[in-house]
Amino acid sequence: MLRGTAYRSLSLGSHDFEALIRSPRYRRSTPEEVAFHEAGHVVVGHQLGLDLVDVDVLADREGGNGHTNFRAPDWFRPDSPLDERKRAFVESVVTTFLAGSAAEARRAGFENAEASGFDVEAVAREWARYLGPSSELEGRLASLRMKAEQLVGEHWPAIERLARTLLARRRVDAREALSSAGLSP
Ligand SMILES: [Zn+2]
Repeated sequence: MLRGTAYRSLSLGSHDFEALIRSPRYRRSTPEEVAFHEAGHVVVGHQLGLDLVDVDVLADREGGNGHTNFRAPDWFRPDSPLDERKRAFVESVVTTFLAGSAAEARRAGFENAEASGFDVEAVAREWARYLGPSSELEGRLASLRMKAEQLVGEHWPAIERLARTLLARRRVDAREALSSAGLSP
C-alpha cells in the first residue's frame, strides 16, 4: 500500500501502486461529511470500473481524515502515450476524485471550497494533465466535475448506505464496502 499523494505515486508507475484518494485536510469536515466524501469516491469509482482496495474514515499523520484506495490496472504507465484506453482510465480517475467533494457538498448543502480544494487543486489536476494541453485543463476539469456531480446524484442511495457503514465501522475492505452500498463487486 502506497501512502502519499496520488500525483507523487504516479511517478512510480509500478504494477502494484495504488492511487490514494484523500479526504479534506483544511477545513474540519464533520465525521458525517467525511463519510459521505469517501463514499462518493467509492461508489462513483466503482461505477466507472475502478478496482477498489479499501476505504476508511481514519485520521492520519498528514492531516487526512479518510482514504479511498484503488488499484491501478497492470497495463497503466504514467509515461506511456495517451491512447483511448489510457484516456478512459484517467478520465475515470479524475471523475472519481471529484466525486468525493461532490458528495460531501451535496450532504453538507453547500460547496466547501477549502475542504474539496485538495482533491480539485492538487490530485485531480495532476491526473487531468495526462489528458492534453494545459490550456484545456480548466474546461476538462469542469466537464468531468459535471459528470461527477451527475453520478453522485444518480447513485446517492448507495452513497448514503456506505456512508452509514463507514460511520459505524471506520474502515472496510472492498467487498464489505460494495455490499453495504448495495453494489455487486
Ligand atoms: Zn477525497
